[in-house]
Amino acid sequence: MSQDSTSEKISYDDVYISDKELRKMKQNLDDAPNEKKYAYFRTLLYYGNLARWQKQGFHYLYSNHNSGAHCTCGLILSLPDSPVEDSGDVTEAAIFINEKVAKKVAKWKLTRLAMVKGHRNIPQVKEPTVALIVQFEYNKSIGDYLWDAYCQECGAQVERVSSETAKGFVQEHNRDAAAGGCAPGVMSVAEGSV
Ligand SMILES: [Zn+2]
Ligand SMILES: [Zn+2]
Repeated sequence: MSQDSTSEKISYDDVYISDKELRKMKQNLDDAPNEKKYAYFRTLLYYGNLARWQKQGFHYLYSNHNSGAHCTCGLILSLPDSPVEDSGDVTEAAIFINEKVAKKVAKWKLTRLAMVKGHRNIPQVKEPTVALIVQFEYNKSIGDYLWDAYCQECGAQVERVSSETAKGFVQEHNRDAAAGGCAPGVMSVAEGSV
């Protein structure tokens, strides 16, 4: 557990689930007496979903209780995770994306959790990330999920792309941001701008 010194509104939870831990939960379920199986099943389902979303790189509210809105990456925002009607109410505080970026993603009607900065790269949850995969849609014709992602620094985005493409987009913007090439306010990042 670490605290972000820039704000008392953001904290982090240790959420990384290893395959080994998942196997252990599965084993617990198998070994449990019948009357306890349901509880173990619920636990496995809960952490199984969390682990799956982490592997997909999907930043998503997986728990919303007293302490705040919990993201799959471990970020906890101590504010209600309501949809943001007017982006103005989140862009004034430094912990959120700036107004320019907020305008570019306004069509997605993201929640506060998806607009706050300070998320960590998943599934490793060690490094910070500037780009987030925030939505998906199941595409029947290809039988797979397609994803939406955006960069919180430059506002670039991809819509309804494969998991691979969305992850590549996230990587690219993190690399550019680390190299100082993905500055706030830049309208878009040119292809191969490294
Ligand atoms: Zn997150
Ligand atoms: Zn960017």
